[in-house]
Amino acid sequence: MRILIAEDEEKLTKYLKKGLEESSYVVDIALNGTDGLHLATHETYDLIILDIMLPEYDGLSILKDVRSAGIKTPVIFLTAKDSVADKVDGLNIGADDYIIKPFSFHELLARIRVCLRRGSHKTTSELTVADLTLDPMTRKVFRGKKKIELSPIEFSLLEYLMSNAGQVVTRTMISERVWDSNFESFSNVVDVHIAKLRSKIDRDFDIKLIHTKRGAGYVIEE
Ligand code: CA
Repeated sequence: MRILIAEDEEKLTKYLKKGLEESSYVVDIALNGTDGLHLATHETYDLIILDIMLPEYDGLSILKDVRSAGIKTPVIFLTAKDSVADKVDGLNIGADDYIIKPFSFHELLARIRVCLRRGSHKTTSELTVADLTLDPMTRKVFRGKKKIELSPIEFSLLEYLMSNAGQVVTRTMISERVWDSNFESFSNVVDVHIAKLRSKIDRDFDIKLIHTKRGAGYVIEE
């Protein structure tokens, strides 16, 4: 799951990025409205978190532009302003939720999960390939009856492969979805994590699920 945060308080963005990455989300940060609008309209996210008071271009204007570009990604506003007018404005132009600063990280995380659950049934219901199951909500993975422990990055990688089961995903597609946009695309980090994932979900089983498509990428299928 990929999240954009447009927020100009740098300390807050670092804290949120760290916390969300620990919960296996991939996080991009924009520190001003111009970058926020650019990322929101040029990259694909599962959720956008927008501060209303942003330098250069405010959050309400970004949301208006995003919605008029036909992008339906759920949006949560973060705002220090608790005036009724701001909330009504935000919800009228298509925000899904808003949180008044200061807020607790756990409150934000809970709102994010609700938003993502509402936004997409496909990615929050259990994913299955043969006897491998992944539950995005409880974050539990089983191969048959065996529980598989994965790191946050391995979990994101497997979730991405399983939500595209039967289709080849390229290293570039994986790196864009599982790592953030600063990803070093010349490194072999995707292959390294695929190898780790294989050792956990395939090595001890007769039927291998992760397959390499030479020169193309990877596919998960029976
Ligand atoms: Ca601000």
